[in-house]
Amino acid sequence: MSTKSTPAARRYAVREIFPTLQGEGAQAGSPAVFLRFAGCNLGYAVCPWCDTDWAKADFTGSASEVVERARAAADDAFGGVPDGLLLVATGGEPSLQLDPPLADALRAEGFRIAMETNGSREIVRRTVDWLTVSPKQPEYVQREGDELKIVYTGRAAPGITPDVESVRALAAGTRFDHYFLQPVDIPEEGGPNYQETLRAVHALGPPWRLSVQTHKVIGIP
Ligand code: SF4
Repeated sequence: MSTKSTPAARRYAVREIFPTLQGEGAQAGSPAVFLRFAGCNLGYAVCPWCDTDWAKADFTGSASEVVERARAAADDAFGGVPDGLLLVATGGEPSLQLDPPLADALRAEGFRIAMETNGSREIVRRTVDWLTVSPKQPEYVQREGDELKIVYTGRAAPGITPDVESVRALAAGTRFDHYFLQPVDIPEEGGPNYQETLRAVHALGPPWRLSVQTHKVIGIP
């Protein structure tokens, strides 16, 4: 008789799962289910203006439980999972948890998987169908993907992008299909620094584009 024990199935710490539209970047306007994992390897000390609550898990469950909740969210909003419905894996830092077994289970349900990572960890590309990298440190390792989305702090907040030159330095040598600059949103300071970011986009020129957080504009999660 074998004495080997079966490894316990992985459990995932999830902050929230909800249906909405992708608000940002090249897929803005696409119906989506957001899977927000708990936990981040950088944290609020690095990004004091972080606009997401990722610290505490709302539930911890197996891959099939996560898929079940994602399917329920899609059922509620879209009457099911239309083939290719976007599943946006975010956080916190989703690469700490999204792994091939969970990705396979989500795809089997019909989801197309997008990930929004801070780029500090190398991404196993077969786990995602669309990769957004949004670096929060000058040095980051994931330097290719579908879109690079840089939060522009300018003079509005501390951060790694005080000016156009810092944006150019962050993007140097990268390979992405889309390049976005997105205003930092600090409600206490009057909201997004649109004008400052627009000036930076003009100065950068193509292929840079402005990314607006349209979900906030239209008042959805
Ligand atoms: S890396 Fe992203 S989720 Fe983590 S603290 Fe920074 S902005 Fe927030």
